[in-house]
Amino acid sequence: MTATVLDGRAMAAELRDGLKGDVAALRARGVAPALAVVVLGDDPAARSYVRGIERACATAEIVCSVHRMEEDAAEVELALLLDRLSADADVHGVIVQTPLPQGIDAARVGVHIAVEKDVDGLNPTSAGRLLVGLPSYPPATAAAVLEILHRAHTPLRGARAVVIGRSAVVGKPVALLLLREDATVTLCHSRTVDLPAVAREADVLVVAIGRAKVVGAAWIKPGATVIDVGINAVEGGGGIVGDVDHEAVAPIAGALTPVPGGVGPLTNIMLLRNVAAAARALAP
Ligand code: NAP
Repeated sequence: MTATVLDGRAMAAELRDGLKGDVAALRARGVAPALAVVVLGDDPAARSYVRGIERACATAEIVCSVHRMEEDAAEVELALLLDRLSADADVHGVIVQTPLPQGIDAARVGVHIAVEKDVDGLNPTSAGRLLVGLPSYPPATAAAVLEILHRAHTPLRGARAVVIGRSAVVGKPVALLLLREDATVTLCHSRTVDLPAVAREADVLVVAIGRAKVVGAAWIKPGATVIDVGINAVEGGGGIVGDVDHEAVAPIAGALTPVPGGVGPLTNIMLLRNVAAAARALAP
């Protein structure tokens, strides 16, 4: 038996069609959904990420403006830009490319993104709203993980879910979203003792570590659904690999997201879906 491949690209294509309809309906009402992307510095990874967002926006007919700042820009300058974009009636979503340069605190600048335009969940208030179950826009990657699980009809109520990685953008919000679905959630990190044994209890295993192929066969419960969020560059321009050793895990898992082509393609779509939702909520 080999794991079913959860094809993020195919799922993203389906979502794109729905999104186009949402955007067309907004445009018919005279609302042009618009996303502002703030980028500090000019590293190649950030450039390719922003190009991906611009392309996705163009396809969805969402207006995209990119605001570039120097890598050593002062936090106060970034805060002022975010205040300005938050107050701009023609902008419905505001995101900042992460990771931020050293010395700039994501939570401190996040408060300058208006909650109703915080389409990637950077404002700590959005995180708090997610925690207490109030409406908010969860970080797009976390939303993408849940979208894949839903589209794969993965049973979540009462399921044992293990999330590896506790970042504010992936691990923690994924854990909260799984909890909201009545899964029994264990959140693991670099200090978790005997991680393979904990992971092996999971019906649903979400891995967001950032280290190539650390999750092997011994970590997997037979038949488990495994979501690999990791993106790790292979040295020498050999593309990207996930945090899961796919060859080792595929014969044991029930379902598995590929890298590339799993969580990644859905993340931008979830972001744009949030922009359309924000535009709808903000429209007069
Ligand atoms: P991060 O902020 O660096 O967090 C990594 C987490 O993994 C931390 O909680 C860390 O534990 C834990 N960890 C590190 N080494 C570990 C180990 N050997 N065993 C167990 N846990 C370990 O990373 P992130 O921003 O969450 O991103 C995680 C991965 O997802 C990266 O590869 C990133 O590129 C990828 N990503 C993908 C998307 C997408 O759209 N597909 C979006 C965002 C991120 P401690 O807290 O104890 O240090």
